[in-house]
Amino acid sequence: SGRKSPAPNQPAGVASAPRLRVLLPLPLAAGAYDYRLPHGLEAPLGSFVVVPLNGRETLGVVWDGETDPDLSPSRLRDVMAVLDVPPMGETLRRFVEWVAAYTLSPPGAVLRMAMSSPGAFTPPAAKAGWQRAPAQGRNAPDPRMTPARLRVLEALPPGEVMSGTALAEAAGVSPAVVRGLADAGLLVPALLPEDDLFPAPDPEHPGPTLLPDQAAAAARLREKVAERRFGVTLLTGVTGSGKTEVYLDAVAECLRRGRQALVLLPEIALSAQWLDRFRARFGVPPALWHSELGSRTRARTWRAVAEGRVQVLVGARSALFLPFPDLGLIIVDEEHETAFKQEDGVVYHARDMAVVRARLAQASCILVSATPSLETLNNVEAGRYDHLDLPQRHGAAGMPGVEAIDLRKHAPERGRFIAPPLIEAIRDTLARGEQAMLFLNRRGYAPLTLCRACGHRMRCPNCTAWLVEHRAQRRLQCHHCGHAEPIPPTCPECNAPGTLTPVGPGVERVVEEATELFPDARRIVMASDTIPGPAAATAAADAIATRQVDLIIGTQIVAKGWHFPHLTLVGVVDADLGLAGGDLRAAERTLQLLHQVSGRAGRAEAPGRVLLQTFNPDHPVMRALVSGDLEAFMAEEAAGRRPGHWPPYGRLAALIVSAEDEREADRAARDLGLAAPRADGVEILGPAPAPLALLRGRHRRRLLLKARKDVQIQPILRDWLSRIRLPNSVRVQVDVDPVGF
Ligand code: ADP
Ligand code: ZN
Repeated sequence: SGRKSPAPNQPAGVASAPRLRVLLPLPLAAGAYDYRLPHGLEAPLGSFVVVPLNGRETLGVVWDGETDPDLSPSRLRDVMAVLDVPPMGETLRRFVEWVAAYTLSPPGAVLRMAMSSPGAFTPPAAKAGWQRAPAQGRNAPDPRMTPARLRVLEALPPGEVMSGTALAEAAGVSPAVVRGLADAGLLVPALLPEDDLFPAPDPEHPGPTLLPDQAAAAARLREKVAERRFGVTLLTGVTGSGKTEVYLDAVAECLRRGRQALVLLPEIALSAQWLDRFRARFGVPPALWHSELGSRTRARTWRAVAEGRVQVLVGARSALFLPFPDLGLIIVDEEHETAFKQEDGVVYHARDMAVVRARLAQASCILVSATPSLETLNNVEAGRYDHLDLPQRHGAAGMPGVEAIDLRKHAPERGRFIAPPLIEAIRDTLARGEQAMLFLNRRGYAPLTLCRACGHRMRCPNCTAWLVEHRAQRRLQCHHCGHAEPIPPTCPECNAPGTLTPVGPGVERVVEEATELFPDARRIVMASDTIPGPAAATAAADAIATRQVDLIIGTQIVAKGWHFPHLTLVGVVDADLGLAGGDLRAAERTLQLLHQVSGRAGRAEAPGRVLLQTFNPDHPVMRALVSGDLEAFMAEEAAGRRPGHWPPYGRLAALIVSAEDEREADRAARDLGLAAPRADGVEILGPAPAPLALLRGRHRRRLLLKARKDVQIQPILRDWLSRIRLPNSVRVQVDVDPVGF
């Protein structure tokens, strides 16, 4: 059943039996292990095999490289079985090795990401779906029918079988509606053929007619896909210029060529509108890959990708490690997003690794953004990447006018956060029957709770962080470790009763203020607490598109790719928020985020307006947003980083040393510092406290290795780490190309 084992009467341990290397999906520094292949089994490179390891059965992959001839036969164990799964292709094996070497991770830790679905290794079974109940010849209106239920039936032609999720998606309803129909006997269970889970997108399905600029860019991208070789193209254009339509055309070309396409989105769980557009363009939904998929769906998807039955997959960064046998195109949408950086385990940047995977697969890669990263712009400038730009917004929509509100001149009332000019603008907008949005990139009610009597601040016991009040739950929470506690009735320091006071705004507090200011406006709050997943995101987008909402209040969730045609005003409550702290990219990132939020306004005929509340209207970020001259800003950014060889004009790696005991962390960091490499063009900074000096109860110190661009830092880092022995209680995390520092 899906695995081949040696015949039981075969003599085991024959000295002449072939040997092979098996890489196990475990973070073992040693890499692949040698095993013996019993007679009667065949296991070409990339085969998935079951092998013994410390008395347990483990799954691994037959790996490249020489076995160790000196290993005595008595120490070799036998491969126990070869699985009936398509072997891992050479491209993916090279990719696993490349990522491991680049990030200084054990290859097995990377392999684990490429076989993240144990269920995929058992043969698939038919899956349950729904079909319409046989018609009962009713002519009278059915009292059980609601508009939502009707939409479900309309989405399901008689005789067809669809999965519950696909059906709910197609009808634009929640899965509960489908279940309700089943309970009412209007849908009956039926078996879904495996192929129907991943219906083929139709490249000839009619899409929108592209405008001349779009058509020209799309033609270039199609050519590149048709060339069937590696190349990277940056696709830019302000939000709403039609970048998505253009790159979907490249996907269509990839389909025509019979190769697979992968689209990486930074926030796949919130991409309901994107999925609608995909369906409108190709007639069917794409395959999905993200952390919230159920294990069965994961397993099916992994296997369908491996067998080439998935033609287009849309996923989060981990989708890069799926076993595509013939990848022809990788698209990274919103390439500047930090969500593409994985910070735990294998620390990698999916945008950069997408380029590597494309190169290994001889595929075309398209990086898409309205506000590309300096890294990518630098690659364009150096001639490594091509660049296509869509100069204007689609159709009648112009770019919104951006203005700064100087909070020094227009202070909000005491304890309030919305300044009079913004209040005025929201009033006007609502009076015209248009929608307004308030944006604040901070969850909760207040970022700081302070005792009015003694000045004590409520801080997390496990992290260098203030506790954030979440008023609905009446709790203080740490946004780093999840620590939560009830708001104490008295100050824990001076015992004064009722003196703890919220300081500063979180999105909940803005909601409270907006409720008082605009009591008649119908509000929706879009934050991770209120929009936990795809269904809630779809419902929210629907409510906004159908004008059941006047005022949208949200955190960075509202910045993501939404198309809200009736939204004409965006108010940014604290435009300075991201500029604090010593992060090299703070300004760049603030610009990217605020430009993206601004882009939500004025996407249809009515012109949009954006108001930025700031104490620094002269800051280059604010000036760039107001003038719309993002290129000048990026040029200034570049000029600031070039002389010091800061990325992208130099290389950087961070070593984060951590231990539960503070002195131990300090000692280890000092020892690492003493062992630091001395090489031409290499500079060591630190040790210093890491940005979160205490995180989840571990004290963290940081060393930075900064090098000229022409220095290969991996061998230097490897050598550095190999020269020092640290106690087991000390952890060192290597972060090549760190983003938050
Ligand atoms: P971007 O990805 O650059 O933000 P989109 O591709 O989302 O822009 O396009 C913005 C809006 O304009 C979307 O609603 C999209 O459907 C619409 N649009 C873009 N190009 C066309 C076109 N050629 N015909 C019709 N609608 C278009
Ligand atoms: Zn904490």
